[in-house]
Amino acid sequence: KKLGWAIVGLGKFATEQIMPNFKDCQHSKLVALVSGSPDKAKKLAREYGIEEKNLYNYQNFDTIRDNPAVDIVYIILPNALHAEYTVRAAQAGKHVLCEKPMATSEEDCQKMIDASKKAGKKLMIAYRCQYEPFNLNAIERIKKGELGKLKVITADHGRPVKPTEDKADTWRVVKKLAGGGSLMDIGIYSLNATRYLTGEEPVEITAQEHSDKSDPRFKEVEDTIVFTLRFPSGVLATCTSSYSYQEVKRGRAFGDKGWLDLDPLSDYNKHTMKIGTEEGKQEPQLKEGNQFAAEVDHMSECVMQNKTPRTPGEEGQRDVRYIMAIYEAAKKGKAVKV
Ligand code: NAD
Repeated sequence: KKLGWAIVGLGKFATEQIMPNFKDCQHSKLVALVSGSPDKAKKLAREYGIEEKNLYNYQNFDTIRDNPAVDIVYIILPNALHAEYTVRAAQAGKHVLCEKPMATSEEDCQKMIDASKKAGKKLMIAYRCQYEPFNLNAIERIKKGELGKLKVITADHGRPVKPTEDKADTWRVVKKLAGGGSLMDIGIYSLNATRYLTGEEPVEITAQEHSDKSDPRFKEVEDTIVFTLRFPSGVLATCTSSYSYQEVKRGRAFGDKGWLDLDPLSDYNKHTMKIGTEEGKQEPQLKEGNQFAAEVDHMSECVMQNKTPRTPGEEGQRDVRYIMAIYEAAKKGKAVKV
């Protein structure tokens, strides 16, 4: 059985990554689109065999309530719009998969959780790395103790943001729409990885930020931010996030018996894993899989089997809480307890 999905926001990520990968889904099919641009929606509908009666705009979106073909709504809008559209979708009686970061404040995350609960519908946050085979394998190896006692995690996520060249980057440097800079957008991958690799929640956070305010890109949002997390077991994590260094998306876990490298950790494909122990280095050859189809199908399966998603709203809310604590620690120049 395949559940019907509606995509809200037909931007770069939706059209280049998500929509094409529905072809590999076993339990999910694209049935509706929501867009502010009727021409774009019609063109994509023709391409994907979506009926024109299943095209919505942001004004009539709430009438999706009357469309039984749509089970799940996938929100792929600028960060600050996630809350409004998740709440509206839940009120229209739909389950929601929402892109990361879940929202731009912890309060908005709570509103999204509450609206889904009230409607009796599921809410999942699109942490695709938690459905990606290399990351899942790393989690298993660490859990099994292959690295011995875990001591440190390091993770780096950065790329040059290009608002004048890439339309998808224009809202990313506007605080009202993005909520923040590199940390909200890509540093969140490092943050989330420290949590799923340790299986723990941080208790203390420190941070330092540097943004060149004469660079028009960083008038409103941060460029580079370095943060550390202390976990209850004693694991320490140190992460970097930047909108100005060359593209990096990697993570490394250090244990007393070995280290494990994912470089990239969070790309769309071409992941690699390297492991170093006393016996030497190895590079396990894992099957890449389709993380997008796995993530989307996971949500459909949770709806069909009435299960809680692996990455529910509460998971997204925790990251937003830690992101706010990172900003606070950077601003105050002091460690923040969480
Ligand atoms: P994008 O700008 O290409 O897409 C956003 C879409 O929202 C556009 O089609 C735009 O027209 C529409 N939109 C509706 N109302 C808008 C408004 N008021 N202002 C601006 N745009 C508006 O951006 P994107 O890169 O596709 O990112 C969309 C979301 O997906 C973000 O939350 C981002 O964090 C997330 N994302 C996730 C991944 C991932 O790997 N999981 C990758 C890229 C983006």
